[in-house]
Amino acid sequence: MAAGKASRKGARDDFKNSSKSKARGGTRRAAPAPRHILIAGSGIAGLTLALALARACPAQLTITVCDPTLPAQDLPDARADDARAYAIAAAGRRMFESLGIWPKVAGMAQPMRDMVITDSHLADPVRPSFLNFDGEVEPGEAFAHMVPAHDLLAALLPACREAGVDLRRVAVRRFEADADGGTAHLSDGERLPVTLCVAADGARSRLREAAGIGWVGWSYPQVGIVATIGHERDHMGRAIEHFLPSGPFALLPLTPGGSLGHRSSIVWTERRATASTLLARDPGEVLEEVERRFGLELGAIALETPLRAFPLSFGIAREFAATRLALIGDAAHVIHPIAGQGLNLGLKNVAALAECIVDATRLGMDPGEGDILRDYTRARRFDTVAMAAVTDGLNRLFSNDIEPVRMLRDFGLGLVERLPPLKRFFIREASGLSAKAPRLMRGERL
Ligand SMILES: Cc1cc2nc3c(=O)[nH]c(=O)nc-3n(C[C@H](O)[C@H](O)[C@H](O)COP(=O)(O)OP(=O)(O)OC[C@H]3O[C@@H](n4cnc5c(N)ncnc54)[C@H](O)[C@@H]3O)c2cc1C
Repeated sequence: MAAGKASRKGARDDFKNSSKSKARGGTRRAAPAPRHILIAGSGIAGLTLALALARACPAQLTITVCDPTLPAQDLPDARADDARAYAIAAAGRRMFESLGIWPKVAGMAQPMRDMVITDSHLADPVRPSFLNFDGEVEPGEAFAHMVPAHDLLAALLPACREAGVDLRRVAVRRFEADADGGTAHLSDGERLPVTLCVAADGARSRLREAAGIGWVGWSYPQVGIVATIGHERDHMGRAIEHFLPSGPFALLPLTPGGSLGHRSSIVWTERRATASTLLARDPGEVLEEVERRFGLELGAIALETPLRAFPLSFGIAREFAATRLALIGDAAHVIHPIAGQGLNLGLKNVAALAECIVDATRLGMDPGEGDILRDYTRARRFDTVAMAAVTDGLNRLFSNDIEPVRMLRDFGLGLVERLPPLKRFFIREASGLSAKAPRLMRGERL
């Protein structure tokens, strides 16, 4: 941070001096040519960064997003086959609010009013609640909202276009760079000179690998099964996480709709071998298996979407940046969905990197410079490692049936339940609203 801050201070002084000389009638310098930033990957992380940069520095930055899976047009059902819905923490919601995206998805966003945690066997007739969190971080502000993935993408794509982002349906094949600049090699043969390339190309990031950035990671012997479930009774905004021996089974409230009037999203962690046998059964039997985990409190249930299994893994990049390259989102880290924090971590990267780039650009500095990227890494690395370790630890602690471990964890849950200040601390951390949150995450403009 010190080096970056020192060079930014120097740039600030230069900026002040040049303003003074202009005021005294000195010669005006020609406006510098816009810097070109290329973002590889149009997932939520890549598009949010593109929008934040294009909005903050329209004259100084040119933003291109490349992705071979970009839809040909901004169809409202863009990537509608993705049945995932994300728990967007309060800090992420504030960022979408300040980028003008939240009003477009608010109608599809279900606030989480409270959250209940149980720890039981699959065959247990009742699942007593061990821990109960109230859902507000500030009066009237939910700690998280459930938002369908395709609604977020369908709001981000046209907003990026309107902000002047150049969206291209091509892959970034290679990126080479030195201290003076970089060149991106695109799959249509074009060579694009850029000042900074951002790898938002997901967990198996080609750009990260090509830059020789190491990856510490492993696969879990589990998959995350995702689907939308219709049910008769209102969930009242309650999220429920049943810790079962094979892994957590989360019921996450969605806005009303579906064949039975109410809907929830499930994230069902299951051992890999069991999951493939379960999912190969006929739909009626699959629904019975869902019902055994879902419970009967919400009345009759129906499958609103097919069940889709995602392999689960853990991984963190050894560095978040290389020469004129920055990693964001799953390209930088992949974590277990047990706490619904993967994308939220990615959005924190976005907010921190956008702040570094915008501050440097406004001071007339080169946003691809090593010092700027080091500031970004320093801002994000500790928080990312801490969250990754917590989610991995929680999964190990809860995805087993060892009696002494069960007693210990239930004692821990009971203890937290009896300590309201500790519960408030956990909720605040999960909502991303810590004191050091980047400006966008506090709902401020860049
Ligand atoms: C079961 C499950 C449930 C989850 N639930 C939650 C939740 O509730 N809350 C939460 O915060 N997180 C959750 N997550 C995590 C979340 O899904 C990811 O963190 C998030 O989708 C990552 O977004 P991204 O934009 O970084 O990457 P991606 O969505 O993977 O996007 C990467 C993009 O890069 C493109 N691409 C790849 N290679 C190239 C290339 N060479 N050139 C150009 N483009 C390229 C791809 O086509 C893709 O569009 C969950 C994950 C799972 C598996």
